[in-house]
Amino acid sequence: MKVRTRFAPSPTGYLHLGGARTALFCWLFARKHKGEFVLRVEDTDRERSTDESVQAILDGMQWLGLDYDEGPFFQTERYDRYNEVIDQLIESGHAYRCYCSKERLDEMREQAIAEKRKPRYDGTCRERTDAEAGVDPVIRFKTPLDGKVVIDDLVKGTIEIDNAELDDLVIRRSDGNPTYNLTVVVDDADMEISHVIRGDDHINNTPRQIHIFNAMGVATPAFAHLPMILGDDGKRMSKRHGAVSVMQYESDGILPHAMLNYLARLGWSHGDQEIFTMQELLGLFEIEDCQRSGSVFDKTKLLWVNQQHMATLSDDELGAALSDVMASKSIPTENGPAISKVAAVLKDRAQSFAEMADQAGIFYQDAVELDEKAAKKQLRPVALPVLESVHTKLGSTDQWQAESLKSVLEDIAQEMDIGFGKIGQPLRVAITGSGASPDIGDTLELIGKARSLARIASAIEVVKARADAG
Ligand code: GLU
Repeated sequence: MKVRTRFAPSPTGYLHLGGARTALFCWLFARKHKGEFVLRVEDTDRERSTDESVQAILDGMQWLGLDYDEGPFFQTERYDRYNEVIDQLIESGHAYRCYCSKERLDEMREQAIAEKRKPRYDGTCRERTDAEAGVDPVIRFKTPLDGKVVIDDLVKGTIEIDNAELDDLVIRRSDGNPTYNLTVVVDDADMEISHVIRGDDHINNTPRQIHIFNAMGVATPAFAHLPMILGDDGKRMSKRHGAVSVMQYESDGILPHAMLNYLARLGWSHGDQEIFTMQELLGLFEIEDCQRSGSVFDKTKLLWVNQQHMATLSDDELGAALSDVMASKSIPTENGPAISKVAAVLKDRAQSFAEMADQAGIFYQDAVELDEKAAKKQLRPVALPVLESVHTKLGSTDQWQAESLKSVLEDIAQEMDIGFGKIGQPLRVAITGSGASPDIGDTLELIGKARSLARIASAIEVVKARADAG
């Protein structure tokens, strides 16, 4: 049997973490088993489905590199086929027209609730053969009255549901629209899906879908239901927890591979290994190793995973990624050092390219803004002779390279008989605006001579003004 999986998002919003993880597991499973991965857009909810969402899902998958072999298929283009199956199900006695009015159904539901019973359709029209004039019927699926459904879920284990628990679900509304459980089964059957891998919020639908497969005379696929991704309060991840589009992580400067690595670990594990290359994931992924209960989204860990992946990139790759994020943040990079050099000195200091971009701005701006606290601490009158001497000595240096710049500073420290920090810190604040930066020699080299001198000169003015003010 050929392995075929599908990702079947409803385009009613962006591609969020849960969806991306489902897509990843479907993709990994298909690739690992040399099978095929299908993308199916479940756009039957015409009011809530939008073209923008479709695009957002496609963009998200492309960013993550989750390529599909077939699709995207759109359910709204397959209504004829759904109706054909529905007609066949009526024909074969697996489905029937139900003329019960909304009022009657509401009454039935209220009564059940009042009697603390599970509301369910009472089967009034199950054996009815006459039509009711002037009423557009819904079509209901004839669920077996006894027996049970057994699901051997690849993640959750064996699940048994008594058929008596299930009622005769509507498979076509009175307006002619087929419903979710019907369209999914027709598609999974027609698309020859061998493994349905999806969120466990669909687990209640599975027995119903199995009945429809049986009624169609099609073998049921295997099922794997993935536990939900939870927020830090243990509740299902939602916008409130910062559940954003996966594309937001692109703008935040997370690497797609880091995102995939992190998503894989949300619900799957291989011993205590945290960092995986794509090759490793493809080699090691087993659906049976997915955990049964939910896993908590942890942004701090995502950033850590990202940093581990950043560390494996070459300076040129780092530079390219940094440059993209700088561009998206409208931070100009034309006027300054090669971006790969900047990325190289910042790589141990940033967990994402967004963070790196924030730190990289000082290498491309003409002037820097002084951090108030850092300036107060370092740009004091005692720093005046230090900064003046640094300005003079650096001004007469032609060797603008980290090592020689550092030895100029060391000479000054020796000459003035002060510790290196007494020079390094005020200088750092002067040229970067803040108390933290990479190695001072590297920082000076990358900022360049003219800009460094101008920044030291204006820091000197700040110190002087402060001295004057007493
Ligand atoms: N369209 C459904 C959803 O987005 C998924 C259906 C399925 O995977 O069976 O939740």
